[in-house]
Amino acid sequence: MDPFQHLLLPLLFLLAARIDARKALMFAPLAVLPDFDALFDLHRALGHSFIPILVVPMVILLYARFRRPEWLLAALVVQFYLASHVILDLGGVAFLWPVVPEQFYFEPAITFTTDGGFSFGFSLDYGMRELADMGTTSFLSDAGVALILLGVLMTVVFRREAGNALSKAWTAVRETLINFLRRT
Ligand SMILES: [Zn+2]
Repeated sequence: MDPFQHLLLPLLFLLAARIDARKALMFAPLAVLPDFDALFDLHRALGHSFIPILVVPMVILLYARFRRPEWLLAALVVQFYLASHVILDLGGVAFLWPVVPEQFYFEPAITFTTDGGFSFGFSLDYGMRELADMGTTSFLSDAGVALILLGVLMTVVFRREAGNALSKAWTAVRETLINFLRRT
């Protein structure tokens, strides 16, 4: 899955669930962070393994739970964004890296056949394979382009709602920036 979809899908999910919009926007970049492991030639391993995805955020979550209750929501949002990355990448992630160097893949599909009459089928392919060398990773895939097109069309169809949502999002971004600048 490309970075654009990694950013957009969990962010929209949190906004739809009416989770604190400011926190949802502020931590959204974390949903893309795991893909920077490509810089170290360990794409879908170093940044996608249980250590950064589960262990580190769980430590933060536990610390927040017992020492800093006011951080709890932020810690949950962080855990959600990081976990969403691996769930959306289930087509192939070395989740147990470096303990298990291979990547796991899970590819469900609904198929449609016209050979000898119409029929629907469900296929599920899963297992382990060697970690692919992914020096080049697509920044925007065909599915990402389709998602942008869908977003543009939805915005045109739901003009008024989109206008309201954009002004709300802008207010949230502005408040986040002002708060951040005030603190530093
Ligand atoms: Zn990824």
